[in-house]
Amino acid sequence: MKQEKLKKPMIEFPIHLKDEEFEEPDDRIYYLLAGNGLFKIQKTSFYVSSTLDFEPRVKGASLLPWLQNHRAGITLMLPKKMPSELIKQALGFFRAVALKKDLEGCEAGVILYWSDEKEDYFLHAPEQSASPGHLTYEVGPNPAGSRRFGTIHSHGHGGAFHSATDHHDEENDDGVHITIGNVNTIPSFSCSVVVDGVREQIGLRDVVDNDDEVAFPVEWLKRVRKETMPYYAALPGAPHTWSEEVKSKSVKPKERARIGGVYKL
Ligand SMILES: [Zn+2]
Repeated sequence: MKQEKLKKPMIEFPIHLKDEEFEEPDDRIYYLLAGNGLFKIQKTSFYVSSTLDFEPRVKGASLLPWLQNHRAGITLMLPKKMPSELIKQALGFFRAVALKKDLEGCEAGVILYWSDEKEDYFLHAPEQSASPGHLTYEVGPNPAGSRRFGTIHSHGHGGAFHSATDHHDEENDDGVHITIGNVNTIPSFSCSVVVDGVREQIGLRDVVDNDDEVAFPVEWLKRVRKETMPYYAALPGAPHTWSEEVKSKSVKPKERARIGGVYKL
């Protein structure tokens, strides 16, 4: 019997040149040959990423000087930011886990999804096994009508950062990854976006709405002024030349503009 050879599936992406005529193409994924290398460009519902795939350089010099340079990086293009309520919900869950008698200090995680129908984010807590320094869960298929946006996991009583284990776990998991630490006291946050194994640190406010800001009397803000002297110049024991230097560079009262008999600061 004749056996047919299995063919490898072919995935083809177009290559565009970053020359003077370059215009952003409609392709969701494409390669861009620029003066400083070959970049993989990916556009999703949540970001546009440019990852350097290959750098054709000899002794530090570009081999493609007739092309324009491109910059690697990830630009978030969120349909909207996450409501802060979701972060509070995750934190409430993480805190309850870390304070539960049989799970004392344990990590926990939730998966972040975007619902196409509701046009909003939601969380899902998968079945998981956890310890105070480790967490395992299976992601599984996306719930119907939703797209995976990323993950949030806790570091229990420990601080928030992206550990070596997190780097390993999230290397092939494109999306926004948030770590919440110190869940039993004042929580700490670390937030990053990963595309094609490249991680970029971002601020929590880049992805979370500031709808949780607490109101305060507006005049309080006017009571805070910027110091004119660096704090170290006023420290006891700081070399006197530092404060002399600060004084000499400060604007003297006489030099201030005099408008209608009032010194304008
Ligand atoms: Zn972690």
